[in-house]
Amino acid sequence: MAQKEVYDLVIIGGGPGGMTAGIYAKRAVMKTVMVEKGVQGGQVVNTDEVENWPGIQSISGAELSMRFAEHVGSYDLEVISREVSSVEAGEDVHTVVLDNGSRLATHTVIIATGGSLRKIGVPGEDENFGRGVSYCATCDGFFFRGKQVIVIGGGDTAVEEALYLSKLTQKVYLAHRRDELRAEKLLRKRIMEEEKIEILWNTVPTEIIFDDTGVTGIGLADTVSGEKRKIDIDGVFVFIGFDPNNVIVPAGVALSKAGYVITNQNCETSIPGIYVVGDLRKKLARQIVTAAGDGCTAAMAASHYVENKKAAT
Ligand code: NAP
Repeated sequence: MAQKEVYDLVIIGGGPGGMTAGIYAKRAVMKTVMVEKGVQGGQVVNTDEVENWPGIQSISGAELSMRFAEHVGSYDLEVISREVSSVEAGEDVHTVVLDNGSRLATHTVIIATGGSLRKIGVPGEDENFGRGVSYCATCDGFFFRGKQVIVIGGGDTAVEEALYLSKLTQKVYLAHRRDELRAEKLLRKRIMEEEKIEILWNTVPTEIIFDDTGVTGIGLADTVSGEKRKIDIDGVFVFIGFDPNNVIVPAGVALSKAGYVITNQNCETSIPGIYVVGDLRKKLARQIVTAAGDGCTAAMAASHYVENKKAAT
């Protein structure tokens, strides 16, 4: 596309929210491009099993995201594989600036950049990434068959991935900093029933112990008594949530204290024509299905916005 042409919509991010927005935008015959820096799919790619996508009782995250990509691909959506450096909000049109300096002029923008996985930040974590420290059970669980691992975290992801790892490994510890799991009830019930999983309540990691071969153990501290101890393990899986990827959100857009973008019910931010969908948006439920719902809402709202704008000129 020549530089001076103006897109109706630029979608930033190719997770479930971005891809759904792509489908709805193409169905609304909007001149649309999606910019994605990595592989389409977003965080769902790393999820072992998805059991709450309506119509499919159980599907791997990788398979579901591949189906999303195939579906959106069937609409011939233009995709640019680059990173976005910034979004400049304009009076008439907005501009999406890519890392190679290219500038995409557009009437509307949907930001669907999600979040980045949190690290625990203890000694030994960075040094052992890929050598016993992992952020993806589906990707790395296979290497720990018959071994002992520890999962850090108490949310849906930590519990789901601990359950997955219990099928492969000899034993799974799950260390949670409180005495109650954040995960949904069904997952809490399942983890309590799994004999191979031992939950270490009120426990946080203090260091990862390793030698030339990789991880050999972990130092733990009791958050109530302060007592410290070490246990032997072969792998550490970290699932302590994520931080919103809000770096490219333009100045002037309202954010929550935690850095999530505040939108109206149409997923529109405080700047007209700029929308945010999925995990980056301040909302109650961060699920694949709500990201997809956001993508639909934002694309339809963007379509009305562009139509009204064109009708007024
Ligand atoms: P999360 O819900 O934010 O949970 C993070 C967990 O890590 C919490 O238990 C938290 O403890 C703990 N934690 C945070 N920082 C920590 C630290 N520095 N040290 C030790 N522990 C720490 O994250 P998530 O489990 O990744 O889930 C993210 C979102 O995705 C949620 O909305 C979840 O419902 C959703 N999700 C959905 C599905 C699905 O639909 N199938 C699957 C996975 C995730 P506290 O509880 O004490 O805060």
